[in-house]
Amino acid sequence: MGCLFCSVLEKKIPADVVYEDEHAVAFRDIRPVAPTHVLVVPRKHIAAIHDLTEADAPLMGRVMLAARTVAHKEGLEPTGYRLVINDGDAAGQTVHHIHVHILGGRNLTWPPG
Ligand code: 5GP
Ligand code: ZN
Repeated sequence: MGCLFCSVLEKKIPADVVYEDEHAVAFRDIRPVAPTHVLVVPRKHIAAIHDLTEADAPLMGRVMLAARTVAHKEGLEPTGYRLVINDGDAAGQTVHHIHVHILGGRNLTWPPG
């Protein structure tokens, strides 16, 4: 089975892309759980946080900077927003290509469910 987000990156599956650069692509989640719900994915296929190596450190820095840029462009900075990365089954990871959820546009409760 191919990777869903690699298919998005290869434009085999359509997505509402809001940002892209050399390292990362951001697109709107198909089932948003907040008024703004964007996913930021590295162009490199890495299945999960637990698969990261030292060599991925600069890439993940780029992913976080991309998330910051998207949050700014989406107007989330004045009120605040949340970044989430689910790792593994207990956290609810369903797509096995690292992605940062950007959630904003409403008040978010803590702790998360
Ligand atoms: P996870 O549960 O792995 O942290 O997050 C996966 C996210 O991908 C979910 O929020 C889900 O709604 C989203 N998603 C699943 N399939 C698609 C798709 O085909 N397109 C987009 N844009 N989002 C998807
Ligand atoms: Zn992938």
